[in-house]
Parts: sequence; structure tokens; C-alpha cells
Amino acid sequence: MDAGFFASFWQYAYFLAAVTVVFSIKWLSSPATARRGVIAGEIGFALAIIGTLLHFGITVPIVIAMMIGAAIGAPMARLMPMTAVPQFTALSHAFGALAAALVGTAEYYLEPGQPPTGFKMVALTIEVLLGFLTFTASIMAFAKLQDLIPTRPMTYKGQNFVNLTLLAIAAAIGVWMIAAPTPAWAYPVFIVLSLGFGVMLILPIGGGDMPTVIALLNSYAGAAACAMGFALQNYMLIIAGATNAASGFILSVIMCKAMNRSFTNVLFGAFGQVQPADKTKGTAKPVRSATAEDAAMILANSQKVIIVPGYGMAVAQAQHKVRELTDQLIKRGVDVQFAIHPVAGRMPGHMNVLLAEADIPYDRLHEMEDINNEFSEADVALVIGANDVVNPAARHDKTSPIYGMPILDVDKAHTVMVIKRSMNPGFAGIENELYYNDKTLMLFGDAKAFVAEIVKEVAAQTPVAA
Ligand code: NAP
Repeated sequence: MDAGFFASFWQYAYFLAAVTVVFSIKWLSSPATARRGVIAGEIGFALAIIGTLLHFGITVPIVIAMMIGAAIGAPMARLMPMTAVPQFTALSHAFGALAAALVGTAEYYLEPGQPPTGFKMVALTIEVLLGFLTFTASIMAFAKLQDLIPTRPMTYKGQNFVNLTLLAIAAAIGVWMIAAPTPAWAYPVFIVLSLGFGVMLILPIGGGDMPTVIALLNSYAGAAACAMGFALQNYMLIIAGATNAASGFILSVIMCKAMNRSFTNVLFGAFGQVQPADKTKGTAKPVRSATAEDAAMILANSQKVIIVPGYGMAVAQAQHKVRELTDQLIKRGVDVQFAIHPVAGRMPGHMNVLLAEADIPYDRLHEMEDINNEFSEADVALVIGANDVVNPAARHDKTSPIYGMPILDVDKAHTVMVIKRSMNPGFAGIENELYYNDKTLMLFGDAKAFVAEIVKEVAAQTPVAA
């Protein structure tokens, strides 16, 4: 190979990286090909990094920075529990966005007293604004999800006005910096306002809306990287940033639809606020509870069982026991299907990942809209650690914070069984009327231990005829 090939290797690397990233996103959209998608994404980004290093040269500070980054990132990814993926995602957006904002700042001060002008300055202003606001917003999202600060919405009178004024002043300084030379204080003030807006943006957002906001922040971080690509004239950054921005945005639209919310409602609606009056408090309504033996008897004698997994299954890591139960019931001729709510668990696709890990066949997993009308034919809806996504209040209680969110219609099954440890609420912090329904049996206990008990009891039932 001639020297020309090596000199232009980075261009081939960028081209291959761009193609690989697009295929990666395509493959990530189905559980059957998701593993391939992850590997393709890793190869794509490795190619992009190698191409960049070869093109611009490998320097000692860059190698040291990469080593520090890898030393922090690799153990974080390995040690992080599955249930903490949303927080982890928020942190990685924070760092990506901060990197974009710092690169933009370095570009701004590269020639002392002579900041970039024209189109480059437009791109740089967008990059820095989005980068810094995404940084603080993502750190706030992380802190809320990690319970470092209260998860409930923090609101005050005139909040939207304050937030929009902050953004408007930052945007005005941005336009000023693009249009004319500005005094030395303008750029630092622009940074402070962008950082401040990120914090204020997240304060009123609570509970159930955080996943949607994280998808949106993903989109902002991608847009910041894309703007950086324009500022630096780097095609790879433009492609990867735009793909990231578009996919994050599409994901947040899908999630808004799944919760029947609009963007403005998510960003300004202060969802998850503590409810003013809890009508059920103090009345100590009775619930029907049952044992693993009772549950096993009913399940083994059913024709159709629909299992609804939720966050509690993830916490208990009960998926393998659920697989054993599924096998036992199928052996007895029971038709077992799974109903997956789009926001069950704590991240999009959470349940699919866990059930796939336990080798539950994909063709038994059904999206909410595909299975909802099958509940009325089911003998049992077995709810394992799910709560908000099966709360009938979403259908009729206009005062409920989850009103309008599409739910799994488990209450239409002949019998509903709910495995959870107590009467405690789920993520949205509200009571679930399903538990007081006459056809509901509460199975109190840790999901993994309780399902294991049921498996034992089902196995002990009269053996199936050969
Ligand atoms: P959920 O409403 O959070 O309820 C989970 C239930 O699991 C709790 O009521 C808890 O009750 C039970 N639980 C916890 N640990 C358990 C264990 N070891 N064994 C048995 N049960 C256990 O969950 P969901 O129905 O899956 O709904 C998801 C919620 O999270 C929605 O509000 C959604 O908007 C929000 N969210 C979703 C995402 C996403 O992208 N999927 C991300 C963030 C937030 P006990 O304490 O009584 O056991």
C-alpha cells in the first residue's frame, strides 16, 4: 500500500465509522439484533477515534486523557447495576456535553482577542450553549435519580418566566457575540447563564418524567456535538452528533406518547408532585392476600397467563426464576405470554433486556398495544414488581398525576395476582387502586424468593400427563 493510503486512512476510517454507527442504531432497535448493534457501535467509535488520532497526531496529553477516561469509564460500566442505567446515562451525557462545551471554549479563546466570526461563531455559540446547559441539566438528572437531591418537582411562582428569561438573556448574548465584537465579560456570562439554565430546567421536573428528559438531554448532547462538528469542520462529529440528536429526540417523542404527555407538559408540568389529598389514607381498606401455594394452584390450572414484569422484578433480579416458572407452566399446557409496558422499569427496553438475558423467547414478549385486548381472555394476569404501569387510576382519575398514561389493562383478567413486598407505592409515589380490587390477590414478598416458591409449588402439583 502506498503512502497516500495511510495519509488518507482517516477518511476511510470516518466513512466506515459513519456506516457502522447507522447500522448499529438499526440493529439496536430489536432485542434479537441488539447485541450486534452494540458491537457495531463500539467498532464504529473505535474507528472514529483511531481515524482522528491518525489525522491530527497522537500527543502525550491525549494519551493520558484517554487512559484516565478509560480507567474511570470501564469500571463504572462494569460495576453499575442494571437498575442504575438511567443515572449512568445521564452522567455520560453530562461528560459528553461538557467535552463539547470545553472544546468550543478553547476554540473561542484560541486566538487571544480574536474570537471566531461568521458561520463558525454561530456553530460555536450553539455548541457552547447546548453543551453547558446539558452538562448541568444532566448532573441534576443524575442527582435526582440517585436520590442525592429530592426527586419531587421543585416549583415556585413565576418559575417558567424566570427560566425563559434566563434562556432569552443567554440567547441574546449569543447573538451579540455572533454579530459584533463583545466585551471580555460577555463570554463568561454566557457560560454562567447556560449552566444556570440547565439547573433551572430540571428543578421542576420530577419522578416519572425523568426518563423522557434524559432522552431529550441525549438529543441536546448530540446537537452540541453536531454543532462542534460544524465549528471544527469534522464530518464524523457532524454525522455522529446528528444521529445522536435525532435518535434521542425520537426516543423522547415515543416515551411522551407512551405516557400520553406533551413536551411542554413534561418540561413545565411538574409531574410527580406530592398529591394534595390521598383519599385512601386512614381508611385502611382491606386487601386479599394469598400464599405461594394458592398462587401455584391457580396458575397451574389456568389456560392463559399473562405475566407483567416491572421495576421490582429488576430490583429482585427475578428474571431467571420467572423463566423457570414460565417453563413449568408451559409444560403443563398453559399459554404464557408477557406484556411489556414501554416505560416499565427504569429505562426504555429495561424489561426486554432482562427477559432476553433469562432466555425467554422474544415471540412471547408483547408490546402494550398488541396485548392489551388479550387480558380479558386471560385467566390470570401475574404482575411481578410492576405498579404505576398497571394503575387503573391512569384511565379515569383526572386528579392523578399519571392520568392519561396508557396502562396495561390487567384488571380485565379473571384474576390478578400482584407480587410485591408491601403496599408501598411505585415510582410516581401514588396509591394503586388495583390492589383493592375484588379479583386481586396480593402475594407479599421479594419477587425472586416468591416466584421461586411458586415454581416449587407448581412442580409439586400432580405431574402432567405424558
Ligand atoms: P414502579 O411503579 O416503580 O413499581 C415498582 C414496584 O416494585 C414497587 O411498588 C415496589 O413495591 C416493587 N418492588 C420493589 N422491589 C421489589 C422486590 N425486590 N420484590 C418485589 N417487588 C419489589 O414500577 P413500574 O410499574 O415498572 O413503573 C415504572 C415507573 O418508573 C413509571 O412510573 C415510569 O414512568 C417510571 N420510570 C420509567 C423509566 C423507563 O424508561 N422505563 C425510567 C424512569 C422512571 P414494594 O416496595 O412494596 O415491594
